[in-house]
Amino acid sequence: MIGNIFRTLAQASAAAVFLASHACSTGGHEQGRIAVATDATPPAAVRQDDGPPRKVGDEAPSSPPPVAPAKRTLALMPLGAVPEEDVALAVEAIEQIYGWKVDLMESRDLLASSYYEPRKRYRAEKLLAWLGGRKPADADMIMGLTAVDISTTKGKHKDWGICGLADMGGPASVVSTFRIGRKLPGEGKSEKRESYRKRLRELVAHEFGHQLGLEHCPNKGCIMEDAQGTVTTFNHSTGEICADCWRKLEEAGWGSNR
Ligand SMILES: [Zn+2]
Ligand SMILES: [Zn+2]
Repeated sequence: MIGNIFRTLAQASAAAVFLASHACSTGGHEQGRIAVATDATPPAAVRQDDGPPRKVGDEAPSSPPPVAPAKRTLALMPLGAVPEEDVALAVEAIEQIYGWKVDLMESRDLLASSYYEPRKRYRAEKLLAWLGGRKPADADMIMGLTAVDISTTKGKHKDWGICGLADMGGPASVVSTFRIGRKLPGEGKSEKRESYRKRLRELVAHEFGHQLGLEHCPNKGCIMEDAQGTVTTFNHSTGEICADCWRKLEEAGWGSNR
């Protein structure tokens, strides 16, 4: 019985990988990363996955450890000037939603070689590779947080603006606040500010979910729902990770911190 369940899960996982791979066959070399997209110019329905997930299931144990591990740690690195309040919101999102500990790293300048002059923004896949090499040994994952515009290649779009990009299954992600201030719902400054705070929290949680191996979720309102190319997807989010996604995290051994 249990064997059957595991076999079914393995098949489902393989199917998901295949579908992602198939759907994104034009995605080029940025494999294993998923981005939340908000570029205003291309069609809104274009998905932001850049390629097949990398190492889905490879890094996770096939069953959760019998004893809860020590508190997992995310190292958070501000890249360039980031408002303190935004940094605090990102820390809070990870701690509250996932129960992880967050170690705030010293802020660093953006990697100069990631700058893409024609569009005056920074290439997220280069930032990811750079961040991955800077994960402290005592941290499980690393996330960069920046206020500058970031982009990556998406299908035929050579340089596509995004809100975030993550290594599927870790180790790195990068989140940009540049686009989430657009089209904020609410009347007046304080309501819009609240909408911004909610979006930032969910964006951070979404990218972190990818780092933990979660793919996009079909359940409406789940934090892992596909943004479908627009920041307005955040507007109807419940601000929670759905039960199906939690189950996947548990199965991957990431669920014991909460
Ligand atoms: Zn995503
Ligand atoms: Zn979900």
